[in-house]
Amino acid sequence: MTEYSDKLSKNFQRAEFACGCGCGYDDISPKLVDKLQMLRDLVGKPIIVTSGCRCKLYNSHIGGVGNSPHLTGKASDIYCDGIDIYELAGRADLIFSRIGLYPDNHFIHVDIVPPHPSKFWVRHKGEYKYFRPPYNHYDDVMNYIFEEKLR
Ligand SMILES: [Zn+2]
Repeated sequence: MTEYSDKLSKNFQRAEFACGCGCGYDDISPKLVDKLQMLRDLVGKPIIVTSGCRCKLYNSHIGGVGNSPHLTGKASDIYCDGIDIYELAGRADLIFSRIGLYPDNHFIHVDIVPPHPSKFWVRHKGEYKYFRPPYNHYDDVMNYIFEEKLR
């Protein structure tokens, strides 16, 4: 476990990424933190991390998928006060390889692993909607959000 005062970038500290179970797992990817800082600079407001690193036990406890990049410190769930998750996802589009939108819970998942099965997904009422090519762009996500009246 690393010192909790560890500053990882201008606006992020290691403690923000520690596993939610209290096990001390906090080995977050520096590349992910760099990208979160880019997003932070782009929006100009604090980014709140609700889940960063997860140990296997905690990940299964909260219902995370078995191969979740949270397990390897390559993902974070985030939100930003004053910016809705759709706008935040639009900003994140330029920075991250995968973006999951969780409108029922008001956060987005961002990570740095290859876009599989799609770059974007939306989880709504417990169901996953994946945006596969050629409908794999932010506009396609927004059209879906509009049709489902999620915004
Ligand atoms: Zn843990």
